[in-house]
Amino acid sequence: MKITIGHLYPDLLNLYGDRGNIACMMRRCLWRGIQAETIEFNMGDSIDFSKLDIILLGGGSDREQRIVCKELKKIKERFQDYVEDMGVVIAVCGGYQLLGKYYQTDEGVIEGLKLLNIYTEQDEGRLIGNIILESELSKLPVVGFENHRGRTYINGYRPLGKVLYGAGNDGRSGYEGVIYKNVIGTYLHGPLLPKNPRICDYLLEKALERKYGAVSLKKLDDRLESAANEYIFRRFVKGRR
Ligand code: GLN
Repeated sequence: MKITIGHLYPDLLNLYGDRGNIACMMRRCLWRGIQAETIEFNMGDSIDFSKLDIILLGGGSDREQRIVCKELKKIKERFQDYVEDMGVVIAVCGGYQLLGKYYQTDEGVIEGLKLLNIYTEQDEGRLIGNIILESELSKLPVVGFENHRGRTYINGYRPLGKVLYGAGNDGRSGYEGVIYKNVIGTYLHGPLLPKNPRICDYLLEKALERKYGAVSLKKLDDRLESAANEYIFRRFVKGRR
């Protein structure tokens, strides 16, 4: 079995080490004897979506998002076909915002890919800090770090999780991220996947299922990560109840 990961615009969308998510997916494949390859696509490169099993879109500043947005117009339709065909996508922060219809900033609108009927608007102040979620995708709390000025409104889609600590999509709804088909959008940097291996395995499972049919992933030793998640939960959530 083999997984091919497409890393889109790593030179522009790679805040807070979102690239660590790639290293995590690659390693967890290799540890299980599954081959893994990552292809980086920069501005102007042509993307053959039929070769990709997982796509990562990382975070970026408004300035970088504005640059990328022009490029996204060229791939929009093929990206949409990939998503509708159950292609796996993990989009973080700026990348998450770009999945939607638009991101309205003080300097004007940044058009999104419109893959999902969600949108992002700015409000006063940035939402910055540690964040902890309860998610249907993981028995353990999902932990990460957020830093965004955009507030994302998900129009009734499934969220990635309920916010136990932190701000989330808009600082008010109590929810974070979005799940649509095999797409996850989230504000959790951190990087997300090394801290939350269950989410990593969920993405790998979905990608392998799409390519090879039902799979059962070999269990890995995640005791360290689990202990860290439980510690963070106890420290930030339980202590406050
Ligand atoms: N520029 C976006 C915002 O501030 C996304 C930032 C990010 O990717 N961390 O909302």
